[in-house]
Formats: sequence, C-alpha cells, structure tokens
Amino acid sequence: MSTIQMVDLHTQYKKIKDEVDRAVIDVLESSAFINGKPVAEFAQSLAQYLGVKHVIPCANGTDALQIALMSLDLQPGDEVITPSFTYVATTEVVALLRLKPVFVEVDPRTFCMDPERLEAAITPRTKAIVPVHLYGHAAPMKEILEIAAKHNLPVIEDTAQAMGADYIFPDGTKAKAGTMGTIGCTSFFPSKNLGCYGDGGAMFTNDDALADKLRMIANHGQKVRYYHDLVGCNSRLDTIQAAILNIKLRNLETYNAARIAAADTYDKLFAAQGNIQTPYRAEYTRHVFHQYTLQLEGVDRDGMVNHLASKGIPSMIYYPVPAHRQKMFDAFGGSGYELPVTDWLTNRVISLPMHSELTLETQQYIANAVIEFAQQ
Ligand SMILES: *Cc1c(COP(=O)(O)O)cnc(C)c1O
Repeated sequence: MSTIQMVDLHTQYKKIKDEVDRAVIDVLESSAFINGKPVAEFAQSLAQYLGVKHVIPCANGTDALQIALMSLDLQPGDEVITPSFTYVATTEVVALLRLKPVFVEVDPRTFCMDPERLEAAITPRTKAIVPVHLYGHAAPMKEILEIAAKHNLPVIEDTAQAMGADYIFPDGTKAKAGTMGTIGCTSFFPSKNLGCYGDGGAMFTNDDALADKLRMIANHGQKVRYYHDLVGCNSRLDTIQAAILNIKLRNLETYNAARIAAADTYDKLFAAQGNIQTPYRAEYTRHVFHQYTLQLEGVDRDGMVNHLASKGIPSMIYYPVPAHRQKMFDAFGGSGYELPVTDWLTNRVISLPMHSELTLETQQYIANAVIEFAQQ
C-alpha cells in the first residue's frame, strides 16, 4: 500500500494526465494567460452544470466572499451573520471590510448554521447572512431563505466545500449548493471537490445586474477599460487553471460519486463502534463529502491522532479553534460569545482521509486503526 494522504491529487492527476498536459500546453502556445478562451468556456460550463445564470470566476474563494460582500453596498459596522464553526475565510472577509461578524451556533448533526439561532441573532443592523455548506453537507437553505426573505436580507452561500452537493426542497425540486441564495461563492483550491492546480474561485448568481457588478468589482470597478466606476480589486482566474478546471468539471460527478461511495464504506466499517459517530446526512441533501468527519465520544482525540500517525495515517482537525475564539476577532467581542455546540464539536471532530481515489484496502486499514484505538 502506498503512502496514505488526506487528499490524493497525484493519482487523480495520473488518470487525466494526457488531457491536462495537452490543455496546459495549448494555453502556453496561445500565450493568452489572462482571460484566455478557457476562462469563458469554464464559466459557461460551470453555470450549466449548476443550473445558475451567471458564473463569475475570480482568484480564490476568499476573494469570492469578499467581492460578494462588497457588492452589497454595506456600511462600516453593519452586521453579517456567519457560523463560528467554519474556515477562517468566511468570517475574516467580514472584518476586513469593516463590517461586524456576528457568530451563530450550528446544528450538532449537520455542522451547519442553526436556523433558529440565526433568527434570534438578527438585529436592525443585520445586513447579510452567510451560511456555509460545511464538509460537503448543505446548510438548511429552505429555513435560512425563509428567514432571509422575512427580514429582507441577502444570503451569500459559502459553498467552497460543497461543489456539486444537491439541496432537495420538500416538493422534490433540486438545486445545487451555492445557487439558492443571492450570491454563491466557491474555491477551486486543489483539495476542494472541484480543485485546480493552484488558486481559483468563483461567484454564482441568477441576478443580471448583480452579475455585472460582481464582474466589475473583480476587475478594478471597470466595465469599459480605464473607466473605473466602483472601488474594486484585481481578482482573476488564470487561463491555465480554467483549462484544467474544464477537464476536472467533466469528471466532477465521478469524483463526487467516488467520495460518496468512500463515505458509505467508512460508515459500514464504523457501524458497530458505539463511541464513534459517523457523519449525519440530512434527507434534504446529497452530501458530497469534502471531508469525512467523525465525532469521538469519550475518546482521547490527541491520542487518536498520534495513534493514526504512528500507523502512517494522516488525520486533521477541521478546525481546532472556532472563529469566536480566534484572537483575530477579539475586537469584535469574539470571546464574549457562548456557543456551546460549536465548542463541543470543536473538541470532538476528527477528519479522516477522503478523496476520489481511496481504495477499500486503504479504508479498511484506516478504520481498523481508528477502531483499535477507540476500543482501548
Ligand atoms: C477553502 C475555503 C474558503 C476559501 O477558499 P480559498 O480559495 O482558499 O481562498 C472559504 N470558505 C471555506 C468554507 C473553505 O473551505
């Protein structure tokens, strides 16, 4: 058995190597490194895959979130509600724009924003809601959208970890994560479900005027070259990355199916283990398992990490410190928050290797090591 990795990008690359190498060489030959044809092609293909009107590519997922918030014309101090249990980018951009992050609790099963707590956190200064589809599990969008509509608030979906996840409404209609709110934001960081070979990101919207504005903000606020109507930034997806993403997008369903199958296998392997809780999958979503995250009950987590490492098995804690306990947010009253579910989850979670190339043999080896320690 070869070295076990959290994400095996190399084996995945080998399977599409000829196609990718050719696409990269084509870009080199064209020398259209910025805004070359593959960028527009990718935006169009992704829009079609997602069933959304506009895809606006940008430089990374953090920029996507920042540009989305910039498009809302918020004022310093306006409140933006996000979960505390998320990757730092979601909350950081709020503070960066001199807005006030307001952290809400998550559901202990889905790891996503708890709609009841969301409604309780809304004040007259609340100007936006940013749910995160964490680990590949969709946030409860029906409830979140209802609350947003009631209070007339825009919803920015952080779907960096849930590319391709489905949301299923009670009437059976399906929507892709990231396409239900006002703007969806994603990342093409290499390890994401749809990752490129460097940095990349995109925003999605069905609103024509907003799409125009997002495009302008990502391009120094200009629509006509050298005429700058808005204060913007410089955030582009490289042509080489777009060319690679065109190939990876065609394989996304295969990759996600492989992740789901690997999650099913892990679930079966851990089924009999009482002190290990496998990931919950709400009926309203097709979870795409960006992460396969266990909750340990009464098991020494550091000991588990070390035990696995001693057997050559990597594991990760996503994330060891929630936003409200980060020094970064001291000035925003972070430590004053009481988010017991977030703190509880933070101390229980452990993510195992998860990617499109896992073999049954590797998964059995990993599960045996996990169970061996959990049974001590
Ligand atoms: C990866 C990620 C981001 C940021 O994406 P980058 O491309 O690294 O800037 C934002 N939010 C979440 C939830 C992520 O997982």
